[in-house]
Amino acid sequence: MRVFENDRSVPGTVWTRRSEKPGGFTFARSEYETLLELAEGAYPREACGLMLGTHEDGFITVHSVQPTRNLATADDHFDLDPGDIVRLDRTARERNQQIVAVWHSHPDADGKPSREDLLGQWGGVAQVIVSVWDGGAGEVWVWS
Ligand SMILES: [Zn+2]
Repeated sequence: MRVFENDRSVPGTVWTRRSEKPGGFTFARSEYETLLELAEGAYPREACGLMLGTHEDGFITVHSVQPTRNLATADDHFDLDPGDIVRLDRTARERNQQIVAVWHSHPDADGKPSREDLLGQWGGVAQVIVSVWDGGAGEVWVWS
């Protein structure tokens, strides 16, 4: 697992890898705001979705943050709707992009992935977790 740290000195929202290997994870500012709004909007339930973009030589660029339905019945779980995954994968390919991350929120918890999150991690796809405290988005954690 690699952890990215937000580099607040760079305009926009850029994470750099916390290791000697080069790589980064970049959002357009508008998409970062979309992510926070979707996470806050679902509170106190977990929100979830996918990120579409490009992945080259360890550098991931998010072009669009997309919500999916959450099929989980418990508030503190997420289960991506398979139909939404198929639809968004098609959208990505039509744009010459790919699914670069799975994202979800952690209501009233930090962004550390749970055991279930780690077991469910997709190969080659980053995992982004937004913590939401009292309905307000806090930290965003990126793992890959
Ligand atoms: Zn989680």
